[in-house]
Amino acid sequence: MKIPFSPPFVDQDVINEVVDTLESGWITTGPKVKALEEEVCKLTHAPRALAVNSWTSGAILILKWFGVKEGDEVIVPAYTYSATALAVLHCGATPVMVDVKDDFTIDPEKVKAAITSKTKVIMPVDIAGLPCDYDAVNDIVNDPSIKNLFTATSENQEKLGRILVLSDAAHSVGALYKDKQTGVWADITIFSFHAVKNITTSEGGAICINLPKPFDNDAEYATMRLWTLNGQTKDAFTKSQGGGSSWKYDIVFQGLKVNMPDVCAAIGLAQIRKYTSQLMEERKRVAERYHSFFSQKNWAQLPIIKDSDRTSCYHLYALRMNDITEEQRDKMMEHIADKGVSVNVHFIPMPMLTLFKDLGYNIENYPVAYNNYSREISLPIYPQLTDADVDYICNVIEEAYQKVI
Ligand SMILES: *Cc1c(COP(=O)(O)O)cnc(C)c1O
Repeated sequence: MKIPFSPPFVDQDVINEVVDTLESGWITTGPKVKALEEEVCKLTHAPRALAVNSWTSGAILILKWFGVKEGDEVIVPAYTYSATALAVLHCGATPVMVDVKDDFTIDPEKVKAAITSKTKVIMPVDIAGLPCDYDAVNDIVNDPSIKNLFTATSENQEKLGRILVLSDAAHSVGALYKDKQTGVWADITIFSFHAVKNITTSEGGAICINLPKPFDNDAEYATMRLWTLNGQTKDAFTKSQGGGSSWKYDIVFQGLKVNMPDVCAAIGLAQIRKYTSQLMEERKRVAERYHSFFSQKNWAQLPIIKDSDRTSCYHLYALRMNDITEEQRDKMMEHIADKGVSVNVHFIPMPMLTLFKDLGYNIENYPVAYNNYSREISLPIYPQLTDADVDYICNVIEEAYQKVI
């Protein structure tokens, strides 16, 4: 038996939507991107959504839009995919890493302690599809003494008057916090549509814009859209529509070039239409089947897929083994691989990676992140897995544990 970790979901609807794009005569940013953005708003109830070519480029765009630059600090969890901190480095600013809680999400107490007058943004992460504690993070940025400390150095910082909450929701499209979708809990929420994520456009992402007054989310959408297109006032699709002066455009500021092509949007469009009714339900089936097996094992710590405030969108099934070392976990993974099951670890904490070690980050300062990492194995979870596949995986994991311990 060979079980891949996270193959993309490609059915006839996805193929038809892509072929329709190819045959339409328009393959880059145009009607499919617009339709995908509308579907994201329909799903999340975010006021506006802007498609981009990756989560990473979306995060860089937002940090630049907010005027984050050298000398500024952005608070991120130590336990995340490196893109969270890399986006900050790309703007010349400093990622300030804080430890996480046992549930993998950022620890609000640690966030509070890390705030200085240089803090411009907090980037919590909805790890595995489980939302972070949004109320706690929002309370921090709205706390009068913390607002007082905030020193605006750009027009948008002036306008917001406090630290921006930029949610790394790369994993959490469709997840719920207090019965509302991710996308409406932070000022800005960014989903990833990378190939392994719950909804994919092969590469891509969506920025949900949910800024408070006096921001006008429609106007900010228009500005951010220019940011995706080199600061050019007319996109290629508008120019292609013809008319006497349709060729004329202006470059109004130094933007990026990070727009999503229609041919990619088509993949995600076919998926998002059946996401909550079908694709997420299938993920839930897999998660619950794992739960019923591993809840019988006293050596297993189950990931949270639902608690009083939060419902996961089942992006990862992050199983942990109690009382196990990193070396034993690695040995388990070898055995699992030998049995044809692809598993992963989410994540190697950033302070353990060369770039961040060289910058002076030290894993010893993040004991919970290390503990989570050392005991974790992410199991395959996606709609195409049959119940028999899941049972096979469960037995392989059990066998690997018994063999190593
Ligand atoms: C996948 C991922 C990203 C990066 O997404 P891209 O679309 O590949 O740029 C960022 N953060 C987390 C937590 C991720 O898992």
